Amino acid sequence: MSSAAFFNTEERRQVPLEPRDEGRVGLYTCGPTVYNHAHIGNFRTFLFEDLLRRALRFLGYEVEQVMNITDIDDKIIRAAVEGGVSLSEYTAPYIESFFADLDTLHIERAEHYPRATEHVPEMIELVEKLVATGVAYESDGSVFFRIADDPDYGRLSKLDLSEVRQGERVADDEYDKEDVRDFVLWKGAKPNEPSWDSPWGTGRPGWHLECSAMSMKYLGPEFDIHTGGVDNIFPHHENEIAQSETATGGRFVRLWLHAEHLLVDGRKMSKSLGNQYTLAELLERGLEPRALRYFFLTTHYRKKLNFTLAGVEDAAHALRRIDEMRFRLTHAEESGGADSPVPEAVERARARFTAALADDLNTSEALAAVFGLVKDVNIAIEENRLGTGDTQSVLQLLTDMNRVFGVLDPTEWAGEDETAAGLSDDQIEALVAARQEARAQKDFARSDEIRDRLAEQGIVIEDTPTGPRWKRT
Ligand SMILES: [Zn+2]
Repeated sequence: MSSAAFFNTEERRQVPLEPRDEGRVGLYTCGPTVYNHAHIGNFRTFLFEDLLRRALRFLGYEVEQVMNITDIDDKIIRAAVEGGVSLSEYTAPYIESFFADLDTLHIERAEHYPRATEHVPEMIELVEKLVATGVAYESDGSVFFRIADDPDYGRLSKLDLSEVRQGERVADDEYDKEDVRDFVLWKGAKPNEPSWDSPWGTGRPGWHLECSAMSMKYLGPEFDIHTGGVDNIFPHHENEIAQSETATGGRFVRLWLHAEHLLVDGRKMSKSLGNQYTLAELLERGLEPRALRYFFLTTHYRKKLNFTLAGVEDAAHALRRIDEMRFRLTHAEESGGADSPVPEAVERARARFTAALADDLNTSEALAAVFGLVKDVNIAIEENRLGTGDTQSVLQLLTDMNRVFGVLDPTEWAGEDETAAGLSDDQIEALVAARQEARAQKDFARSDEIRDRLAEQGIVIEDTPTGPRWKRT
């Protein structure tokens, strides 16, 4: 296990990761509100969280990740009522498309995807605890958190609360409360709305409460890392801290990590500009999921990422450089003997890559390690200096690096942008090369799997004395 440090939003500085249980990281990532299809701004955050999860595992940590599905929300309820459908009927297609999008972008599945609708008893219990401490009060069937009773409030966002003027209305504030700054824990139901029974009458949980209840249920009252987009810092995460810590009397989260905004062509995403693309819309424009994933991961998560078509093209081009090196490597001979520069290049790249990830996910440095390797290996091939075992050790390093970035192995993506014509020749070549590689490593399960996958596409491989040949049937 390697040590790692991350920029903690709460302290505004980089601090070492010190998990509660050594070697195990509890990670809570705010998930989608399934009111509509997720847009690429959401996917920037989800991909950052995927990278974080994969990097932690690469560094030797076990990760238990929770991502909630917000399926109780004012907009969802309004839309379901207007459409005359149940909440679950309304949200089902958006939940389905969310998971399909995760798969398209090769985002690893979290260990838990709790839904708000399935955790209302835990949420009511949390509100009851807050009412018992005196910090929460009921008003007309709703329950509010009294901010004036929490001297710590504002700790995460560093917001000066005296600047929040009395009388200022908050967007989702439709209820009577003592102080405009107080936030809602439980919302009394309006007539004909879907609702749940509670000690305060029928109603529904507030969004902030949903995350506090579900994170603590799965990860315990204190856990290691909580993430989201920067727009979650206030009020969402600030309120999560207030609720959770008031209820438990202890610390809630050790490290807060936040991903910056995504811009589109240099402008903020907004409905009115029409640039809040969904993943499906980008794929319709012909963008490849692999290049998209790579594009999103190239910019450090704490920097604004400017989405442009040219940027995605550059990403595809960069991936080709890696694929070409892999292809040349698997077709080159290891005839160079003892003076091969490759073992040292591999060791250097691995160390640089590992150190970069442990340094607050320094992706540009980690990718510099990847491309440094590509360059060194290309030179070694050109100079005929590959030694025995070099091919294997470079491929092994690429496999390890790919565990983090998930884009470095073209065979994992082959077939996903298939047209009616099936796999392209390049994709078939890549799969055939991958099968050879698996056979050389005596990984026959993998080589059979690739052969079967090709067979499904009507492609047969014949092994001949001069190497494999393939043909379409
Ligand atoms: Zn949340």
